Amino acid sequence: MHKWCVTFCFLLLIQALFAQLEEAKRITQHLCSKELLGRGYVSHGDSLAARFIENEFSKIGLNYIQNQTSYFQSFAHNVVTFPGEMSVVLNTDTLVPGIDFMVDPNSGSSNELWNYRILTIEELFDVELKNRFQDSKRKIAANINSCIIDIRQIKGDSLKKLHREIIPTLAQQLHVLVITDEKFTFSVGNEPYPYSLLYVKGFKFKDVSSIKTHIQSRFKENYLSTNIIGTIPAVKKTKKTIVITAHYDHLGKMGKNTFFPGANDNASGVAMLLEFARHYSKNPTKYNLVFIAFAGEEAGLIGSSYFVQYPWIKLEDIHFLLNLDIMGSGEEGITVVNATKHPESFQKLVDINIQEKYVPQVKARGPAANSDHYWFSERGVPAFFIYTMGPNKNYHDIFDTHENLSFSKFIPISELLKKFIGGL
Ligand SMILES: [Zn+2]
Repeated sequence: MHKWCVTFCFLLLIQALFAQLEEAKRITQHLCSKELLGRGYVSHGDSLAARFIENEFSKIGLNYIQNQTSYFQSFAHNVVTFPGEMSVVLNTDTLVPGIDFMVDPNSGSSNELWNYRILTIEELFDVELKNRFQDSKRKIAANINSCIIDIRQIKGDSLKKLHREIIPTLAQQLHVLVITDEKFTFSVGNEPYPYSLLYVKGFKFKDVSSIKTHIQSRFKENYLSTNIIGTIPAVKKTKKTIVITAHYDHLGKMGKNTFFPGANDNASGVAMLLEFARHYSKNPTKYNLVFIAFAGEEAGLIGSSYFVQYPWIKLEDIHFLLNLDIMGSGEEGITVVNATKHPESFQKLVDINIQEKYVPQVKARGPAANSDHYWFSERGVPAFFIYTMGPNKNYHDIFDTHENLSFSKFIPISELLKKFIGGL
């Protein structure tokens, strides 16, 4: 080959990779935008995202699964939402949602001045707390509607016990404000407390004499969400299928002015799923390929659980499943959940990476129920869940934005996984 031809081909390749990255950024940016409301359950943010992904599937030319008439597989689930007021005022200081305070995903509503009691650590760990509190509440019902607990000095198993048992018990009986310096991590609840439960940063809780909250929590039962499923048939007819999955839902809103963008988690994974769909639409393989953008992951892996219960393809036909969740960094490499379950497949992935030096590390992890691969693994489907590692620690908070994503290993990881799929 002529020298100029090599240079020209090289330039074309660079241009193609650059275009891939730009496309991934466009998709991520849109999924994280304010318009999509955090892809949760306030004002149907998740449905807006679903329509966008449907449109991308159709632009790429993905087929419907046999006997289906759309990409959508809908299911109902229960969710706690925060569509409206979200104000916490300490003395005259109005706290900033997501920064100074966070509500619990299962928090109930409140709109009142708090007549609170500060509970000591001793009182908190009193085994009879539940009964005692009910008694004291009955005795001084007119005076108390809330309590404050400071958990900053509590660590280890005691802290776990507090989060798992004691705080939920309290929130069944009165409003609870927890003073904490732990990182704020939001989620999606489905069992609302009758009272509001919120976490406030320690530095904000100084010389407080009055607390007023207006928190609007709304429980939505049988909320309809939808998985989005498309396919590229194999070059020669076969039952064997490779499935690529990424959840597109996120945490939605916490009050009318605060939303969770979910850039790394998991707009980035959807962008990579779409990159694979685009690639394989032009380069079909010896396997059928099925692409699933799951809903309801943050609400408890609900979309994937529904799919496994009502699968559109036979689970035994799935040769391998790759679940992509948190694909936006990678400076420190990737982690592979289920690596120890499928050591041979894991070794293949490691070998490709050693040869091509795509990422600094391909780290093995055992099985974990931490994303949508889980239900498939439980049914015996060989599956890896892959996530990136890097300095970006914004997770389930308001800082998981498009701007904070490096995309530094997005293309190398997609190349690594394409080679892996090619060798299956
Ligand atoms: Zn996720």
